[in-house]
Amino acid sequence: MSASASSACCQSRAWVDSAVRLIEADARRSADTHLLRYPLPTSWSTDVDLALYLKDETTHITGSLKHRLARSLFLYALCNGWISENTTVIEASSGSTAVSEAYFAAMLGLPFIAVMPATTSATKIALIESQGGRCHFVTESAQVYAEAQRLAAETGGHYLDQFTNAERATDWRGNNNIAESIFDQMGQETHPVPDWIVVGAGTGGTSATIGRYIRYRRHPTRLCVVDPENSAFFPSYASGDSQVVTGRSSRIEGIGRPRVEPSFLPDVVDRMLSVPDAASVAAAHHVGRVLGRRVGPSTGTNIWGAFELLAEMAAQGRSGSVVTLLADSGDRYADTYFSEEWLTSHGLDPSESAEVLSEFERSGRWA
Ligand SMILES: *Cc1c(COP(=O)(O)O)cnc(C)c1O
Repeated sequence: MSASASSACCQSRAWVDSAVRLIEADARRSADTHLLRYPLPTSWSTDVDLALYLKDETTHITGSLKHRLARSLFLYALCNGWISENTTVIEASSGSTAVSEAYFAAMLGLPFIAVMPATTSATKIALIESQGGRCHFVTESAQVYAEAQRLAAETGGHYLDQFTNAERATDWRGNNNIAESIFDQMGQETHPVPDWIVVGAGTGGTSATIGRYIRYRRHPTRLCVVDPENSAFFPSYASGDSQVVTGRSSRIEGIGRPRVEPSFLPDVVDRMLSVPDAASVAAAHHVGRVLGRRVGPSTGTNIWGAFELLAEMAAQGRSGSVVTLLADSGDRYADTYFSEEWLTSHGLDPSESAEVLSEFERSGRWA
């Protein structure tokens, strides 16, 4: 007599097939995001030819680069047999990931719970709830992981765990990931292979994908990760100690973590810059004025780092291009980073940093 056992998941293969198809169909209906050329001043008295590009991730249906991650995490969980019909899906998030995941959960008809710091912006909470997601708050951002795990155990649900799975759920070799898309869209530019790509790290997934892709395609491009105050990534990178814990919440939504996340891969990062929070805010305001549209604070961090590298290239007489990300829209932060009252109450004064930016725009030099 032969024995036979089957996993409960086998019975739901038809449901999983349909779920994967729905996600793939959604991707097929969607267009790629734009690569915008940032208008650098032409008046600089240098002989170098520099260009800056912004990969505009705000045009995803759910408004941020987390749309890519949410799609990858759902496909990864479905194809691993971790999610089936009626599974409650849970995530630890500072907001943007949960907004995108709530969209996919609703698409598949699954209950969704976002575990988030109580400081998460009201706009993001509204976006999650309007898609049928539930928000569950903790007081400190370092508590989100354990609380998400606890809820998963309690509900028999699945914890997507972006901070662990971001680097492995994403196809780093291609499949139109963010890196492949950038290099393809740069194809007809004067300097098609960027000298630098500048990104922030939340999960670290975006920097891991770009860093791996650069090596795989053997590009000379270097990857710079910009990091805000209170984050463990920069001190860990600088000291080589992966156990650094700050235990403090970042004030720049989307980037900077109280611990070094498993998806952050320091070995593919060529350089890190620590950016003061007031400088990130000043740069977000600055870009808003130049582009005529508000951008989120992590885009400010990106721009601060990109400007610093461009000024360095100008000082060295080196022509070339730099690419960074417009990670999400500033419309999500009208009551926070774009409110003077909020900035004052959080001790953030962008005025000094604004002068550094003005000097860069005027002369191409970094003060
Ligand atoms: C998540 C996020 C980032 C960082 O991306 P990771 O791939 O998670 O490192 C940057 N900006 C915003 C607005 C984000 O939501």
